[in-house]
Amino acid sequence: MPSPNNSAYAEPMVARRHGELDFYSFPDLEALPGLLHGVTTRQVDLAAAGPQAEPNLERLRLALGLRRLVWVRQVHGTEIVAVSGEENLPAAQADGLVTDQAGVGLLIKQADCQAVILAAPQRGVIANLHAGWRGNAAGMPAKGVEFLDERYGVAPDELYAAVSPSLGACCGEFVNWREELPQWFAQFKVGENHFDLESATRHQLEASGVRPERIFTSGKCTVCDQDFYSYRRDKTTARFATVVALRE
Ligand SMILES: [Zn+2]
Repeated sequence: MPSPNNSAYAEPMVARRHGELDFYSFPDLEALPGLLHGVTTRQVDLAAAGPQAEPNLERLRLALGLRRLVWVRQVHGTEIVAVSGEENLPAAQADGLVTDQAGVGLLIKQADCQAVILAAPQRGVIANLHAGWRGNAAGMPAKGVEFLDERYGVAPDELYAAVSPSLGACCGEFVNWREELPQWFAQFKVGENHFDLESATRHQLEASGVRPERIFTSGKCTVCDQDFYSYRRDKTTARFATVVALRE
């Protein structure tokens, strides 16, 4: 059974244009004052390598009207770093970014992995987490909630969460799941070898104290939906991205 997306809107994600670039957005997050976010498409490759990497990141920054874009060298781990926007880039080797600085966009690069936005705009704190199956199995979504509580005193029930387009249960086949996935993942098994990673993230967030009705999911599978880069579909090194920022 697919997990509920909890959206108050007809579609959990809508197409948006910012400047010269196309994005998808969660209308439920757009309704929160002080918060800016967007998910890019195949229109721009934001992979770390390649001649277009820096120009495309600059296009993205300008399109969203941000003072800085900050990213990390993602390694499928669970390290989370707090950033001010003054860092040299990549800001760290990590898979999660947190800030309380307005105008600083937290960027997670993806091709099937989830970006999990955690936001308490009323408290002036946001996070963006990279959670592929490895990060998910290692508890990244829960660690993000803990980090915001310990470092900024943001209670889990003050948070809003959104899970970006990513590998859907339809395409989430793990033939070596017995070796690769932890025992507790069995509850998210939806077929012989298929797993629902979105539900695994929702489960972790809810268990950490995030209110179920404040957790939004995209309804978009990156393998099925040609708007996004997919490693499973194309074996590509190209990346799309999810960005979140506090408005200045
Ligand atoms: Zn799919």
